[in-house]
Amino acid sequence: MSGSDPFLRDAATIERWLRETDGDALETLWAAADACRREQVGEAVHFRGLIEISSHCVRRCAYCGLTAGRTIERYRMTDEEILACAREAVEYGYGTVVLQAGEDPGLDRDRVAGLVRALKSLPGGLAVTLSLGERTDEEFSAWREAGADRYLLRFETSDPDLYRRIHPSRIGEVSDRIAMLRRLRAFGYEPGSGVMVGIPGQTWAGLVRDLATFRELDLDMIGIGPYLPHPDTALGRGEIPSAAPAEQVPPTELTVYKMVALARLHCPTANLPSTTALATINKAEGRELGLRRGANVVMPNLTPVRYRRLYEIYPSKACIDETAKDCRNCLRRRVESIGRTVGKGRGSRGGQKGE
Ligand code: SAH
Repeated sequence: MSGSDPFLRDAATIERWLRETDGDALETLWAAADACRREQVGEAVHFRGLIEISSHCVRRCAYCGLTAGRTIERYRMTDEEILACAREAVEYGYGTVVLQAGEDPGLDRDRVAGLVRALKSLPGGLAVTLSLGERTDEEFSAWREAGADRYLLRFETSDPDLYRRIHPSRIGEVSDRIAMLRRLRAFGYEPGSGVMVGIPGQTWAGLVRDLATFRELDLDMIGIGPYLPHPDTALGRGEIPSAAPAEQVPPTELTVYKMVALARLHCPTANLPSTTALATINKAEGRELGLRRGANVVMPNLTPVRYRRLYEIYPSKACIDETAKDCRNCLRRRVESIGRTVGKGRGSRGGQKGE
């Protein structure tokens, strides 16, 4: 990996790149990440159709608008509604559907297992990714047996103190998402994870450690987006202190691009989405810039518009009023506008380039 040496030599070098602000220097980072992406995963951009199946949540995450205790209108989609979205995914040629939700006990083991079986028996051979928060080994095992292929669980930050502050454990448990990701792999899932960038209290050294953790976990997918304050959460109200100014990571677009580019160089074959949170802070060209600086995946939203507005993890989310079809067309256009192709098939890591 000699091309990445100037960027990854040691922790101090990586931190210098994360702090870099010189435009010409950054051009060399973007070029290296883009070349690595082209060589390792090709020109195809894989579409993963996102279905936000429930906004019920028992957790009290300090960053998330779905946090328990907020009096907001909550929904849980029926199996029929979810299957209708999945049929749309097949029609649009998406290889994967991602079922995401708050940590919702209403989505119990048997209900989700039945749903996964139904999705896996649809014509079209969809890969099924679950993103339902921290669940029991019994649930992980049952869902894997039912046919689920991947599990997405962001560890949010690898800094244990910061993580504890923003992500309180449930009573009698200790939340350890990094350990859970290892167990998910042992169950046979392709594990995906990721972090938010610019959380109050997050330091540059913390980001360096996040990158090392991505590599150590050998992740299938790595989602990196800006932290976006939600005014009705503990973090959004400023209840959690920032780090010292010289150490605090800003929640900017530029920091996200640097993390995406360095994640590509650290984990050359990983699937890296250009995230909706990134598109939210730069609606004009955030998606495209993410794809040109290391990313190779997008996650078009399939959630029915009436529910989508209620899945408000952060405010002013991009693509909030677009139908699933608009989302597909808009993302296709953006991908093609930068000379890339839309991936066919499931887009598994290590699959054929372009598939
Ligand atoms: N309950 C699931 C899904 C959570 S939503 C879980 O906890 O895994 C998916 C991701 O959205 C989270 O993992 C988090 O990284 C991101 N997210 C939540 N609130 C956010 C905010 N205020 N700003 C940016 N990203 C946020």
